[in-house]
Amino acid sequence: LELHLVPVFHAREEFGGALLVVQDVSAIRRLERMRSEFVANVSHELKTPIAAVKGFAETLLGGAVNDPEISRSFLQIIFDESERLNRLIGDILELSKVESRRVPLHFSPIEMSGFIAKTIEVISAEAAKKRIILDMRVEEGIYVEADEDRLLQILMNLLSNGINYTPEGGKVSVSVEPLYNKGGLLNQEGDYEYIRIRISDTGIGIPKKDLPRIFERFYRVDKARSRSSGGTGLGLSIVKHLVELHKGTIMVESTVGVGSTFTIELPVLQ
Ligand code: ADP
Repeated sequence: LELHLVPVFHAREEFGGALLVVQDVSAIRRLERMRSEFVANVSHELKTPIAAVKGFAETLLGGAVNDPEISRSFLQIIFDESERLNRLIGDILELSKVESRRVPLHFSPIEMSGFIAKTIEVISAEAAKKRIILDMRVEEGIYVEADEDRLLQILMNLLSNGINYTPEGGKVSVSVEPLYNKGGLLNQEGDYEYIRIRISDTGIGIPKKDLPRIFERFYRVDKARSRSSGGTGLGLSIVKHLVELHKGTIMVESTVGVGSTFTIELPVLQ
């Protein structure tokens, strides 16, 4: 709590007494702390690739440039780290947009079996590189009202995580089902009011202690693994905000060494 004494003046600047203002500032302080933590995280994340670019460029300039083989491998690192910076900045801007709800959503009815088939096709080359099977279980004729580009972004993010965190020869599956009685309430008309999308993998899984935190910005279970697969640690926080912008929910279940399942529930009508 913060107390302020505010002097009160009448007309012609005549002192009229004082007002005691009591203000609960804990929420404001919490927001300030979160903001400064975010800035600290962002700076740290940006510094790592910049330091690499600078260091390798310096070594090249210092003479390594005369060795063609070393030059090639250092330039490749500089290129990769620049790409990483690009992705990071893109994700930071995207997150700040979805966090402040500055994303206009264009809702339209989407037929899920066609949509999932299309999505799987987009990511099939990435899966093929690791001989990962993409499996889809969606009946025809299930509709949801959503922003198609954003829904694609949500699914692509979860599918590419599934592929990234699953060893060669594994499987990533998507299923969609209508929910008739969410929360135990049966709809009068017998129509479904929600759909449930599940994305499961047979991957490395997530330790129990990390599960509650993986939707936080920059949170990664294994920094090195996320880095080597090109991750920014922002994907899941962006996904969560996008799901919430659709008034939906997302949750995760996982067993280390067995696999993970992300479950999204979305209202059919916005
Ligand atoms: P990243 O860019 O690191 O993948 P995300 O925000 O997408 O960031 O995910 C956060 C962390 O959650 C990842 O670093 C990883 O540790 C964990 N994670 C996400 N999806 C999976 C998955 N399907 N299987 C195992 N771990 C996962």
